[in-house]
Amino acid sequence: ANGTAAASPNTFIVNSPNVSYTDTEIKSKYTYRTTSVETDSNGNLVATPKETQYDFKVDRKVPKVGMMLVGWGGNNGTTVTAGIIANRRNLVWETKEGPREANYYGSVVMASTMKLGTEAKTNKDVSIPFHNVLPMVHPNDLVIGGWDISKMNLAQAMDRAQVLEPTLKGLVKKEMTELVPLPSIYYPDFIAANQEDRADNVIEGTKACNAHVEKLRQDIRDFKTKNNLDKVIVMWTANTERYADVIPGVNDTADNLLKSIEQGHEEVSPSTVFAVACILENTPFINGSPQNTFVPGAIQLAEKHNAFIGGDDFKSGQTKMKSALVDFMISAGIKLTSIASYNHLGNNDGKNLSSQKQFRSKEISKSNVVDDMVEANSVLYKKGEHPDHCVVIKYMPAVADNKRALDEYYAEIFLGGHQTISLFNICEDSLLASPLIIDLVVLAEMMSRIQWKNSGSEGGYKNFHCVLSVLSYMLKAPLTPPGTPVVNALAKQRAALTNIFRACVGLEPESDMTLEHKLF
Ligand code: NAD
Repeated sequence: ANGTAAASPNTFIVNSPNVSYTDTEIKSKYTYRTTSVETDSNGNLVATPKETQYDFKVDRKVPKVGMMLVGWGGNNGTTVTAGIIANRRNLVWETKEGPREANYYGSVVMASTMKLGTEAKTNKDVSIPFHNVLPMVHPNDLVIGGWDISKMNLAQAMDRAQVLEPTLKGLVKKEMTELVPLPSIYYPDFIAANQEDRADNVIEGTKACNAHVEKLRQDIRDFKTKNNLDKVIVMWTANTERYADVIPGVNDTADNLLKSIEQGHEEVSPSTVFAVACILENTPFINGSPQNTFVPGAIQLAEKHNAFIGGDDFKSGQTKMKSALVDFMISAGIKLTSIASYNHLGNNDGKNLSSQKQFRSKEISKSNVVDDMVEANSVLYKKGEHPDHCVVIKYMPAVADNKRALDEYYAEIFLGGHQTISLFNICEDSLLASPLIIDLVVLAEMMSRIQWKNSGSEGGYKNFHCVLSVLSYMLKAPLTPPGTPVVNALAKQRAALTNIFRACVGLEPESDMTLEHKLF
């Protein structure tokens, strides 16, 4: 869409002296408007509008991208793979409710829209698919591969997962049979003992070592060469591991972490070894599970190598609702006093989480998700005051992937009254998580093609910080650059994503003021 032809409804160009297009780049000059607050000598707050000029530069060439999944043979891995194949081939399959066709529902990138502006003559809103805001990779074009400690091919693994309709499985079976996970690293102490019987596809050795890092790096390089790829993105969608102890001298700095891997220290988890391999290979790595893969040493290593990382834990169901609902309640001035969250699920994730140490990882990642909203409201909450919050997860094999999540929100309203909101959420967990995997891969790749700088600065363009906090919308416990705030509120996370992408094409943040309709 560089202005050579009339833009179809799905493409657009920006008509502004601050934005220029070449065949290879979009460049924009952007004024970032914020408010700087100080306390004066009388203790009053003084708010001063502040402007910062940034130059953004977007590489327009959409690369050929590979997505490598760790835990490829799991419920998420098989479901996202079958889903992409179904979309690529525009498949339609019979169900008891009639024919269903492939779609990308649940993906912000593929199934949501962004308001571009208002129509010049009618003042009506004009919205475009989110995918068209910047030149993003299409998920149908992703080349998929990965690792699993279980050697089942993806067709068998898809049967084991019990997620998809038999008619759809029949249509993708041939292709799925040909997809076989690479052997992976397995350190039994990190996942539940009940997973042992599926570990029949493992690389020798049960502790971290340099040979493991090198093998994984070689796997990434081979995948890239074999498929003629420009880039690979790696995603951890394997079992939830237990937390690794953060120990001074072991995993607290980049050098110590590398030394510990070399010496086979037992507190280095498989997911951290994958992260290190990806960082050294300059391959973006995203952690979809709750454990502390990114120990301080791993984050420091990513910073040293300028390698993109993101995490932690897909925000698919219960927590997504929570980060929308609690934001609503607290910003409505309702004093939330407790959240009781109960789940039961019967898939392999549930089986793994029935073990205490792995459950603990999930409990931590599910528990901190309202902190920023509580802290921002000093009218409702005194300093240090928090709503009670309890998370329970039970393994119930019969319900398989159809997870049940029950939540009770209990709040104090006007003059000592109470409001109780009870939610009962049922859905196939993997059908919620798969579109998030797609979004994380497409967005992480896009972020790697954006560079920017402070307009006044002498230096050249730079990347975004290697910790991709812009992926927060899809993640329960967002990883942010060290020392920077975590935002959990869903609408704010969406706004950050939308408005950063708008800035790259020189558009103002999405404003819902609609002043054009309000003058008397
Ligand atoms: P799953 O158990 O079906 O799949 C995990 C796969 O990882 C299995 O095939 C297992 O063999 C494999 N595996 C385990 N250790 C491995 C290793 N070291 N290397 C390679 N493969 C390994 O689970 P799932 O339902 O697909 O979920 C995957 C992860 O995503 C879990 O940690 C889960 O907590 C997390 N998660 C899922 C959702 C969701 O599904 N809605 C939401 C948030 C987080």
